[in-house]
Amino acid sequence: MRPLPLVTTGLLLAARERRESDLVVELYTHHRGRLTALARGARRSRKRFVGLLLTGHDLELHLSPPRRGEPWGLAVAALRHHHRALREHWRRWLAAGPVLETLWRTTPQEEPQPRLLALARLTLQRLERATAPGEMASALVVYLVRLLRLLGHGLHLESCLRCQRPASRLERAFLGLEGGLLCPTCAGRSRAEEVPPGLVRGLAAAQTLESASLGRLGFPPALALQALAFLARFAQAQLERELPSLELARQALHGGPKTVLPG
Ligand SMILES: [Zn+2]
Repeated sequence: MRPLPLVTTGLLLAARERRESDLVVELYTHHRGRLTALARGARRSRKRFVGLLLTGHDLELHLSPPRRGEPWGLAVAALRHHHRALREHWRRWLAAGPVLETLWRTTPQEEPQPRLLALARLTLQRLERATAPGEMASALVVYLVRLLRLLGHGLHLESCLRCQRPASRLERAFLGLEGGLLCPTCAGRSRAEEVPPGLVRGLAAAQTLESASLGRLGFPPALALQALAFLARFAQAQLERELPSLELARQALHGGPKTVLPG
């Protein structure tokens, strides 16, 4: 008996050509987490997949289970949400890059984490609506802080990592790549970076807020960019992966808080 197909939804993270007419797609799905699937004839059959198998699209998926060393088979895909607004401006598209790249390159294969998918969807939707680079940087900061926590690399922000002095009693705060807040004494001559105490509180809120309130959490543009720079280094160190999209996004968003896209 053939195993039943899996009907689920998910984000398309990346696609590459295989042979003359096939596409291999990387997906983050609700029921199976990250997986690789083969869309046979996708490049020939205009009808079946036209305009669907594009990076960033949110899809309804019918997947047939893998056989004999082959990836999953992608049979039917329908569009749930096209994220077209992300493609309409290069800055939004570059800001969305780390969401797709981190799902693809830092999540374990076939270990579903629906909260991670929900976080990614929320972030992409927020980026679609964002008009100012600072707003995009805020969305990415919230995403990265939550992603890291869901992957087991949450930041320690309530007290100094080493001496446990509470954050509320620190006049100066530092963030260390070993995982969070350091007081001036403990930061010493380490490469920890001094940040405004308000940023530490903002990151703590990003980490613990209810999902429903996350979309409204914003940082002043300069703080969002500072946080993004730290989180890019922290994520790459903790996850032991190069994530080039993070540097691209950071540079794009540095372009200037003065530049505002039409809404
Ligand atoms: Zn300390």
